[in-house]
Amino acid sequence: MPELLKPEPLVVGNWKMNGTRDSVVNLTRNLLAELEELAIQVVACPPTLYVADVAGCIVENCIKDGTNIDADSHALQLGAQNICEYEDGAYTGEISGRMLREFGCQYVIVGHSERRQMYHETDEQIANKLVAAQSSGLRPIVCVGETQSQREKGQTMEVVQQQLDAVIGRAGLPALTSAVIAYEPVWAIGTGQIATAETAQQVLSEVRDLLGTTGVSTQLLYGGSVTAENTEALMKELDINGLLVGGASLQADQFVKICKVAGLN
Ligand code: PEP
Repeated sequence: MPELLKPEPLVVGNWKMNGTRDSVVNLTRNLLAELEELAIQVVACPPTLYVADVAGCIVENCIKDGTNIDADSHALQLGAQNICEYEDGAYTGEISGRMLREFGCQYVIVGHSERRQMYHETDEQIANKLVAAQSSGLRPIVCVGETQSQREKGQTMEVVQQQLDAVIGRAGLPALTSAVIAYEPVWAIGTGQIATAETAQQVLSEVRDLLGTTGVSTQLLYGGSVTAENTEALMKELDINGLLVGGASLQADQFVKICKVAGLN
């Protein structure tokens, strides 16, 4: 196996369907005030209707600084929580990759367990979403992970492999080099019941092995009840290159602490 190239840490905040237009703008401004110094990539995934507001705050911050940083290379990047698998057409209520790019998104989450479970997204659909993301210039963050009962039956790697195989079968292994893969055990999401750093490392090292040489530079994240307190232990693990944060990303001070600690490891 070639030597592992540890990338710059990536911390993604998934704001889900929370906040108001004002609170999202405030949260973004508070983050922007703190994040610039960090050698880490941070991605905010606001509710889709507020993407333009967050993009506006990032542009405003670039101008205010007088640094002339292009918003596309700012320390805070913009991500979407979902994407339509089709390019355009009669898909009422859906939003395409091109539209997300047009509003400044660089990343998109695909296959979040809430989409798999509540909106019945299939492995095949998720694979198509990854392809749609990449063909419109978005970097997909593919979420995989097992439920509590699958874990109890010892099926963790079987489930994760099946979810990844669907993507690999559709997009090909090389497509995952530039994608981000997040291991998010369903039982750890929003429950306060975090996977230990060792468990997360074990799964992510097996994920990297599954990817073969492609996996050497694939960015692997852990997500599920991440807080400022458990960040350090997670980030010390070799195969954890960053974090996907839900609840704790809604409080600027908590999220900034997570980003700071992640940047040190
Ligand atoms: C998530 O929903 O992706 C997530 C990780 O949530 P939380 O951090 O709240 O567990």
